[in-house]
Amino acid sequence: MIGPMDTPPDDPGLLVQYLTSRDTPCPRCGYNLRENKNQRCPECGEELKLQIGLVYPKLGLYMTTIIGLAMGTGFSLLLMLYMVFGIVILGWRHDPDLYAWFLVTGGGVLIEGAPMLACVAYPHVMHRRGRIVRVSFALIAWVLTVTNLAIFAAICLG
Ligand SMILES: [Zn+2]
Repeated sequence: MIGPMDTPPDDPGLLVQYLTSRDTPCPRCGYNLRENKNQRCPECGEELKLQIGLVYPKLGLYMTTIIGLAMGTGFSLLLMLYMVFGIVILGWRHDPDLYAWFLVTGGGVLIEGAPMLACVAYPHVMHRRGRIVRVSFALIAWVLTVTNLAIFAAICLG
């Protein structure tokens, strides 16, 4: 199977043929590409391709996964920044609680941030999976976030 990232450039003839009789705005700058004779927008210079799109893309499970991971990543990142500001204002001190705080928030950023970035960078990997796998991804994302909050509450607030 050919993926979106491996798709060879379109046959320029099909694109030119499509644009011959249609008012079509450039997706980048909005310039009307009607009668454009090559694969670049004459206004902004972006390369163009002809492609098939979905009328109603089903992104619910993908977005549920991303939002779950983003919430956990953001939670940990903000708490880590809070700790850094505290150190800048109050000064560094040797305190096991500070190390625990840094370990828990840093772990949260890595464990939830890495799969979140992978989902954003390679969305087709998830889109190609069956519904059960996609539901599992979404559940895992939210379990990670709730676990992240619970670990933070138990270790850093306990
Ligand atoms: Zn353009």
